[in-house]
Amino acid sequence: MNVADWLAASARLQPAAPALLSGTNVEADYATFARRAASIGAALARDYRVAPGDRVALFMTNCTQYLECLYGIWWAGAVAIPINAKLHGREAAWICSNADAKLGLICDDTAEALAEAAFDLPPLMRTLSVDSEEYRRLRGGAGAQLPEPREDDDLAWLFYTSGTTGRPKGVMLSHGNLVAMSLCYLADVDAVSSDDAALYAAPLSHGAGLYNFIHVRFGARHVVPESGGFDSDEVLTLGKQLGNVAMFAAPTMVRRLVDAAKKRGERGEGIRTIVYGGGPMYLADIKDALATMGQRFVQIYGQGESPMTITSLRREWHGRSDHPRYLERLASVGTAQSVVSVRITDADGKPLPTGETGEIEAKGPTVMLGYWNNPTANAETLKDGWLRTGDVGRLDEDGFLTLSDRSKDVIISGGTNIYPREVEEALLTHPDVREVSAIGVADPEWGETVVACVVLEEGAAASDAVLDAHCLSAIARFKRPKRYVFLDQLPKNNYGKVLKTRLREMVK
Ligand code: AMP
Repeated sequence: MNVADWLAASARLQPAAPALLSGTNVEADYATFARRAASIGAALARDYRVAPGDRVALFMTNCTQYLECLYGIWWAGAVAIPINAKLHGREAAWICSNADAKLGLICDDTAEALAEAAFDLPPLMRTLSVDSEEYRRLRGGAGAQLPEPREDDDLAWLFYTSGTTGRPKGVMLSHGNLVAMSLCYLADVDAVSSDDAALYAAPLSHGAGLYNFIHVRFGARHVVPESGGFDSDEVLTLGKQLGNVAMFAAPTMVRRLVDAAKKRGERGEGIRTIVYGGGPMYLADIKDALATMGQRFVQIYGQGESPMTITSLRREWHGRSDHPRYLERLASVGTAQSVVSVRITDADGKPLPTGETGEIEAKGPTVMLGYWNNPTANAETLKDGWLRTGDVGRLDEDGFLTLSDRSKDVIISGGTNIYPREVEEALLTHPDVREVSAIGVADPEWGETVVACVVLEEGAAASDAVLDAHCLSAIARFKRPKRYVFLDQLPKNNYGKVLKTRLREMVK
């Protein structure tokens, strides 16, 4: 099936229901949303010669037109390439070129960046701004009643991984992948109804955008904050105005939301569900979030190659504080999602027994078709249908998965593996520590030693000695940092992930 069939169905069932909102302002109901998608789909084929299977890039900041365009692309049977709007124009152009995009859908915010990189674009690629008169004319026309038929294995979404190292790779997701991922949301994350509001405070090009499908299926509201991005106060206010809000937030966003809720003396009223993931959520932070905002949290662990779907830590496990292993579970990423098998393997790819630490592998209908034009990476990453995630972790006897690290981030000191995550968890329980990232630095004696890069809370002044004593009270002596580097902030990529490679260079 074509995932856009869900929009056609919702438009038939509840044409007058509010669909696209900018803040609290309704910009389109479901009938209008579907009509625009159909009209854009027709225009892509007619005016831009986009054929089924052709790639169309979306290089724009969050706006309601983003969703119209996505569905317009699928109405035409084409493939969407969502590009993070914060990328440099040349990086975006590289992606368009690698994917041989026929058309780039852009907006006022990104037009200049892409224009400056025009030489790097595919020679025949054209662009269209969603802020132009031309776009408004295109979406106001007519089109086919139903989207172009697609098979489950047909490519729908070509997403370039954030690439904290090397060139990004194009992850190929099919219509079937997107449908399987969306059904997991119902089984493993949250229920959805037409009264809900999906709030997009994180980039639509990434995980947050992938949650649109199931909300389209149920005819829910899709809300883009007026700021176009993440502003804690705006999110808390929108929660109260909209009600029944479900949103995705990276751990750094959760922390900011919790700080703002505390300042306002609120608990996130109107926000039913905050799905967090995409990077480590530390125990101290989720405990603080639960104490401040209550049972609104669900964690997911996934990666572009099996988006939002490897495991989930359900709401109920966030609340079962009477369970003897409650804290262990809260520090885990939960259990395998309904359609996914998870296993742990050793360096030779052989499955390891329960409790042992190794590479996490996943298999199921949410796992990508492969990387775009990259047989070497495919051979390294996909084996007999198993996706090698590059993450390291262990499964306990109840099936809860605890992540240690990405395999390349493991610090090997004196022949012993030290997982930075453990060191970070320990340091974060100190009240003066706001953020921390532990890295390995070459050492003639030990091979590598642990260096902790620390951002202190405002006005705090914890010294090396204080933090060292704190670590000794929580983790094995050999794991504690040999050196502390105090920074004003940690280097992060556009998705808020700490760039350990950059940190290692800075510390060197
Ligand atoms: P991306 O493909 O950019 O979404 O990055 C995926 C990577 O983010 C995973 O391979 C993990 O290393 C990390 N990640 C995702 N979800 C979580 C989570 N819940 N906890 C810790 N790390 C996570």
